[in-house]
Amino acid sequence: MSTHMVTVKTRGTVTIAIERCKGCDLCIPVCPPKVLDMSSAVNSKGFRYPMLRAGCTGCAACVMVCPDFCFEVFKYTTPLEHAVEVNDDPDAGSVTGPAAKANASNGPKASNGPKGDRS
Ligand code: SF4
Ligand code: SF4
Repeated sequence: MSTHMVTVKTRGTVTIAIERCKGCDLCIPVCPPKVLDMSSAVNSKGFRYPMLRAGCTGCAACVMVCPDFCFEVFKYTTPLEHAVEVNDDPDAGSVTGPAAKANASNGPKASNGPKGDRS
């Protein structure tokens, strides 16, 4: 397996109410930069839930599609840059490495000035 490092710009972030999630997967394909992946772990109701990787744009597509209102979206005042490891194997997930981990319902919000801008 070979990998290489790339810099990913993160313009927004989301919080995810994982205990509310019913694992319907609707949010995964609608995310334009494909930064949501379903977990292998499950919540207390037995459902897998989305996890956020670096590269969120704050577009709010996930907010609009989720039937259970699991997402809140925030935009960073200044985009963050992350170095992430990209797996060159086409059968593997495209990016590994540091995800934006502020994805629990009661987790921290964007660290440098989220505006709560849903636009
Ligand atoms: S706000 Fe947009 S880019 Fe960020 S996780 Fe949701 S759909 Fe993906
Ligand atoms: S759309 Fe909502 S309920 Fe469905 S998997 Fe995504 S977060 Fe969970």
